[in-house]
Amino acid sequence: MADLTEGQREAADAYARELAAFADALHILHVDRGAPSYREIATAAGTAGRMALSSSAISEAISGKRLPSMDFTLELVRQLVGPDQGMRDQWRERWKRVKLHQRQASAYRKQSGTRNKIGEGLEQPLSGGDQEVLPAARVEAERIVKDAQAEAESIIEAARIQAEEMTASATQMLLDATERGTIPVAARLQMREHCRIALVGPPGSGKGTQSLFLGKLLEVPVLHIGELFRINISGHTKLGRKAFRYMNRGELVPDEVTLGMLESRLRDPDTRHGFVLDGFPRNLDQAVAVDELLTRTSENIDAALNFEVGRDESFKRLVGRRICKNDSSHVAHIMLKPPRKPDICDICGGPLYLRDDDSRKVIAVRWEVWKAQSESVVQKYGAERRLVTVSGTGTVSSVTERAMSALNAYFG
Ligand code: AMP
Repeated sequence: MADLTEGQREAADAYARELAAFADALHILHVDRGAPSYREIATAAGTAGRMALSSSAISEAISGKRLPSMDFTLELVRQLVGPDQGMRDQWRERWKRVKLHQRQASAYRKQSGTRNKIGEGLEQPLSGGDQEVLPAARVEAERIVKDAQAEAESIIEAARIQAEEMTASATQMLLDATERGTIPVAARLQMREHCRIALVGPPGSGKGTQSLFLGKLLEVPVLHIGELFRINISGHTKLGRKAFRYMNRGELVPDEVTLGMLESRLRDPDTRHGFVLDGFPRNLDQAVAVDELLTRTSENIDAALNFEVGRDESFKRLVGRRICKNDSSHVAHIMLKPPRKPDICDICGGPLYLRDDDSRKVIAVRWEVWKAQSESVVQKYGAERRLVTVSGTGTVSSVTERAMSALNAYFG
């Protein structure tokens, strides 16, 4: 019996590895995904009248002794992972590669008469079952399983997004109903002469998003301090230039700048019956100052609304957040609410961008600043019994509803 040349040996080894990977992947796919038994698969396929996945063919595939047909493979994949075209294409390609190696190896076999050696190469690592499978095959098989899991996760994520969109459109209907005056009484805040609310949750707790809904439901304007700064920055005003470097680092803009800006906004007549103040106060001095500003007109902050979210959730929300250049209330999220076209706003077609301070590094600073300076504001309102705390997790509309009923209970 002639010895194999180096090239022949490589081809034979490649074939053995491919086949082992294939067999192992089928095995792991089956075991890890909790798929039905071989018999069930065979019966299901038989019932569907497509093809017979006989248990002997399956065990041959699993043992790696013989390459099963492409149809068999694709049917098996269909049975295991469902009618997923991407997965089927992947396996079709894989099958073709294995087949090619098989052909090459068999040509070498014929040519060199080394049947037994290749046969040994093929069977030896597989015959003892799981533990003896070639390491490369296992790595490959694990990758396939990982891909399948990632795919399953993305399907779950898509379902979640769909649910979120459905609830968002329900909220929109609620808002439309508010405008038409047909809103159910329970969803509205009981009639009040004024309603001055400060939102005080940590970064990424949803203050910006919720402020829009609450503003509409409470029929008061939203004063968003961060947004006022951003408008000044893009307008290259003196105030914008002052604020820019603090915001970019995730730090608070100095109080004298912030307070002046707020004071002039509070003089606008639309704030007379109240407002939703987003992002203010962020330290104890500001909390005292805003009450002082309001006391001049014998008013004060009626309630501070705190949305509770964890740090991890906040990071996930902020790094994926994309804001529309045309309108900052148009917000997408690359994972949770991906735009239909990449980087384009679904609502108005404007360009989406990542806020400079939504990088991981700056978010970490914003959290430190919140812990060091803003948490005490929450405690102050708590001690003065002006604090309303709700969980900020869940869909947008569920948080809005939670906040509205908590405010109702507080004012009631
Ligand atoms: P926001 O849009 O609320 O996340 O705020 C973005 C940034 O604007 C903050 O990180 C601060 O740099 C600045 N900023 C917003 N509100 C205040 C405030 N009340 N006092 C000082 N800086 C603020």
